[in-house]
Amino acid sequence: MHHKKIELLAPAGSFESLHGSLEAGADAIYFGVEQLNMRARAAGDFSISDIAGVRALCKKAGVKAYLTLNTVMYDHDMQLLAEILKEVKKQKIDAVIASDFAVMQSCRERGIPVHVSTQASVSNLKTVQFYAGFSDVVVLARELTLRQVEEITREIKRKKIKGVSGALMKIEVFAHGALCMAISGKCYLSLHSQNASANRGACVQNCRRPYEVTDLETGESLQVTHPYILSPKDLCTIDLLDQVVASGIDVIKIEGRTKGPEYTYTVTRCYREALDSIREQTYTPEKVAAWKIELEKVYNRGFWEGYYLGRKLGQWTPQPGSVATTRKIYVGKAVRYYPRIRVAEFLLETSTLKTGDTLMVTGPAFGPRTLEVDTLRVNGQEADQAGKGDRITFPLDEKITGKEKLYKIVQTPQSHAHAQDHSLPA
Ligand code: SF4
Repeated sequence: MHHKKIELLAPAGSFESLHGSLEAGADAIYFGVEQLNMRARAAGDFSISDIAGVRALCKKAGVKAYLTLNTVMYDHDMQLLAEILKEVKKQKIDAVIASDFAVMQSCRERGIPVHVSTQASVSNLKTVQFYAGFSDVVVLARELTLRQVEEITREIKRKKIKGVSGALMKIEVFAHGALCMAISGKCYLSLHSQNASANRGACVQNCRRPYEVTDLETGESLQVTHPYILSPKDLCTIDLLDQVVASGIDVIKIEGRTKGPEYTYTVTRCYREALDSIREQTYTPEKVAAWKIELEKVYNRGFWEGYYLGRKLGQWTPQPGSVATTRKIYVGKAVRYYPRIRVAEFLLETSTLKTGDTLMVTGPAFGPRTLEVDTLRVNGQEADQAGKGDRITFPLDEKITGKEKLYKIVQTPQSHAHAQDHSLPA
């Protein structure tokens, strides 16, 4: 069966993560600037002055760049919105991802392509038809089944529903990452508890905490069978990606603008390989099992397939935070690079290192680099281990800028449990 080329859209919440997505083979990336995007509180988020830098890196890599401007907008946001769009136009950003009509209208006035965000909860063909007057791509609501997605893509072709560019409307769906209890983030938990609006990108994730129910008359606590009753596991479609592709979609999106470069690299890489394998008809259960092992190494709350196969009841997280099988521990910072011999020097600030450890270097100029420590050079001498205050050196092809960080990758207790789940099908 011939499959069309599906666009792989990966997150970029910082230059480090952007490099991770680019090096892993993304076809396009999305990023946000200032506070008008749904990850307004993400550490390392970009500012307007970074748009040119992001665009330049993407252009060099032959990758499209989309800017998210998908929060609810107030009148007092209009000036900042106009400033951002001016820079978007100047830097020729490929599209803006929007949900508020003020953004769509402003983009239309300036001739900037629009993709309709999942925040708009588009769940039927009629709404796609409506948004076709403003956009070229619609990100469908995450709550749809694949059968519903398929009906929409089929009808777009049959009815020849075209977007602003004159091409058939494209459909994008989420393939991997956090799922939210509330439909497309329409949630007031954070606003209620901390005056922080999830619809303005400031969710504080109250749903990820354990809760108990108290009988107000007696003061007695009622046992809830599962402590994380509001916190769904993360979406993972790597083992049904062939079905996702067959539903006629054009773009798959990876969630994760708050995540580190090891996450964007690993997840994008796995989905790149999976999409290529589907196209080449070499997508096998053995490969899926191997990708799952990789995906479990980076941040995740446990996986399920979301609503695509018709399951309406979610699966809840087993614990707060990640259940990844590996974890990175900050060890030290870059101090020097010896270009002639291609050796990097780092100052250890926190933890100890020993031969046999796995290290990871991250920085704003390249994607994550992992390396095994075969021989350790500490303060210029060969040694078995190094501690706080020591300077270590090791070969590294990338010239460091001084902003790089060094991490140690360690196995977590979850790695043993997961190891038993991965016996391949016979
Ligand atoms: S608090 Fe939880 S349910 Fe509400 S928007 Fe945030 S992630 Fe979603």
